[in-house]
Amino acid sequence: MYDLLSDLFPYNRSITGDGVRQTLSRIRKEIALIEHSVKSGTNVFGWTVPPEWNVTVAEIYGPDGQKIIDFKDNNLFLMSYSTAVNETMSLDKLLEHVITDDTRPDSIPYSTSYYKEAWAFCLPHEYVKDMQKGDYSVIIESTKEEGELIYGEAFIDNSSEKTVLISSYICHPSMANDSLSGVVLAVELFKQLSSMKDLKYNYRFLFAPETIGTICFLHKNQDEVKLSIEYGLVATCLGDSGELTYKKSRRFNSKINQIVEQIFNSVGLSHRVRPFSPLGSDERQYCSPGFNLDVGVLTRSVYGEFPEYHTSADNLNFVSEVALRGSLEMFLTVILSYEANCRFIRIEPHCEPQLGKFNLYREVGGGGKDSLDDIVQQRMWLLNYADGETDLLKVAQLSSFDILSLRKTADDLVQANLIKEVLYE
Ligand code: ZN
Repeated sequence: MYDLLSDLFPYNRSITGDGVRQTLSRIRKEIALIEHSVKSGTNVFGWTVPPEWNVTVAEIYGPDGQKIIDFKDNNLFLMSYSTAVNETMSLDKLLEHVITDDTRPDSIPYSTSYYKEAWAFCLPHEYVKDMQKGDYSVIIESTKEEGELIYGEAFIDNSSEKTVLISSYICHPSMANDSLSGVVLAVELFKQLSSMKDLKYNYRFLFAPETIGTICFLHKNQDEVKLSIEYGLVATCLGDSGELTYKKSRRFNSKINQIVEQIFNSVGLSHRVRPFSPLGSDERQYCSPGFNLDVGVLTRSVYGEFPEYHTSADNLNFVSEVALRGSLEMFLTVILSYEANCRFIRIEPHCEPQLGKFNLYREVGGGGKDSLDDIVQQRMWLLNYADGETDLLKVAQLSSFDILSLRKTADDLVQANLIKEVLYE
């Protein structure tokens, strides 16, 4: 994942343009990706897809004629969607087009102007305060033309009526944790889920520019997603060393919210579960009232809350393969727990079965309930709640055993012909 992230890092991504194309074609080397195109000017739920933006040159020359800033050294130097300019101007005039952040004085801040004509350079505050008076030459060779917004989708078809959506965004230039960590995790998750047999749900992966790309996707697929999406997860900010975090979908008691909360509780992360709020990433669109899909967000440090966020400090040193692996494990645990959740019913429901007869009990009796090992305790929970109504999620919540280990134990009880799965929703 880290290697792919390093490959993708230098592309000058925005919501349209060649950086997005390069990103999707690099992802296509890893997994089967279908590309979708939406023309500039298209109306999507009242939003207008902007013209396609491309840039070849963005430089500042100092009073002595030397080049002092070149966006080829860091994409973040140029505000995304900057218009073209070729002009010599005073320092004061230049500073009207310079964005800095004195709270993070050493870093280049990230800035965009997708829907308003403007140009700007984003520079570290420490650098700007030492700039000398004099004439500066500014060259931006950029184009905004009728073109397209593109996004990619990958699909794992398990012949199900219901689909799980994994959503990541591909519009951030040269930042590692925000945006790209989610992209590379989604690619790896696609590979792993593709190789698994007997999955209950289809899996649909979206790689789209944040907000406008997701709105295009939802516009194009509005009827279908309302019917087919079982739940979804937005994947971003998953490569830093912070603790994992879950932001719930808007329907606060949904199954995905309960399953993640149960998992987070069982691994000591209950303090990292947050309610839904309409601020954040693409969950804003998925959880808008017309859709109200069960899409939550899995992150480590939350976007907007870590000091490196939206600056040049969110770079390749800020993320690690170890953190990405840990995040991937959590995605798999959540997804496989959701897959494993089901209901059972006892074959003979009166009283407890004599487990010893089935070789399913300990050999020596006595002692308190704590002397029963975990597996025996799980069997007792499962046999009692195999009532045709209670699902494994509920048993997990009541017993504090996790869904995946309960499912394994339940499968043994099915083998012993003590319970059977209830095959209806
Ligand atoms: Zn961002």
